[in-house]
Amino acid sequence: MTEPYKRVALIGLGLIASSMFWAMRRAGMAAEVTGYARSAATRDTARRIGLCDRVCDSVEEAVQGADLIVLAVPVGAMGAVAEAIAPHLAPGATVIDVGSVKRAVVEAVGPHLPEGVHFVPCHPMAGTEHSGPESGFATLFDNRWCLIVPGDAAEGAVGRVEAYWRALGANCERMDVEHHDLVCAVVSHIPHLIAYTMVGVADDLRRVSDQEVIKFSAAGFRDFTRIAASDPTMWRDVFLNNKDATLEILGRFTEELFALQRAIRTGDGEQLHAYFTRTRAIRRGIL
Ligand code: NAD
Repeated sequence: MTEPYKRVALIGLGLIASSMFWAMRRAGMAAEVTGYARSAATRDTARRIGLCDRVCDSVEEAVQGADLIVLAVPVGAMGAVAEAIAPHLAPGATVIDVGSVKRAVVEAVGPHLPEGVHFVPCHPMAGTEHSGPESGFATLFDNRWCLIVPGDAAEGAVGRVEAYWRALGANCERMDVEHHDLVCAVVSHIPHLIAYTMVGVADDLRRVSDQEVIKFSAAGFRDFTRIAASDPTMWRDVFLNNKDATLEILGRFTEELFALQRAIRTGDGEQLHAYFTRTRAIRRGIL
């Protein structure tokens, strides 16, 4: 039986952290939960809706005595937060982050953490287009994957983190850092970029109005607009911090797109049909 955490500090009180809080409460975890967010307005909202047992006005106070510290801020802010909390961490404490990118976070956070503090990078593959302290809900992680990038973290600390995520409803899978960033570029980052681009293109067309786009769009395009409403700060940081993998996948994507563009222009129905047959077989093979 893995020992549960006694005090959990949530740093950043947005969609992911607030969902973690409600999922902890649903699981009946007895841990005392402290919280901190940079903006006073976010802290006030958190207090008003009962998010966390105690919302602190400084990050130092929030992490005092915590045995689990969760970094749930945008990827670009992880390093600065780690630097600020480092002198206040208890020996034996575990720090996890929930960032969508792992190489950049490992490099930004790891060097700040003192000897004797465990660092177990995590990425719950769950989200919505909403952000902020009021957007969280207890079931967000149910039956979703949480990718764990243990690096050289102690096995005991990693196992305890996995038990924690399972209690929140998630399944865990371990991965190395480079593979994580490549997988996420394929399944999440580039699809978001495509959605952002498609919505931008539709908006740019003078001959088709925004009202028509919404009115006549079936599920596909509606999903693009939903995804394109995701938090701009979070997604800016994802692309700035997963450059190599996203540029690699984007390069391959544009090559395929140009090939299809050429097939359309030259009327090469055979190529289009073969391509769509292959992708349909992939989908049918997955399910
Ligand atoms: P969010 O925008 O809902 O919340 C971010 C929170 O961090 C806000 O409360 C903000 O005030 C706070 N914050 C920002 N800078 C800060 C700083 N320097 N110090 C303290 N607090 C700060 O974002 P979210 O969706 O909860 O994302 C949090 C992390 O989780 C990000 O790293 C993101 O990559 C990752 N993630 C997001 C999703 C998703 O779909 N939303 C999914 C998986 C992982």
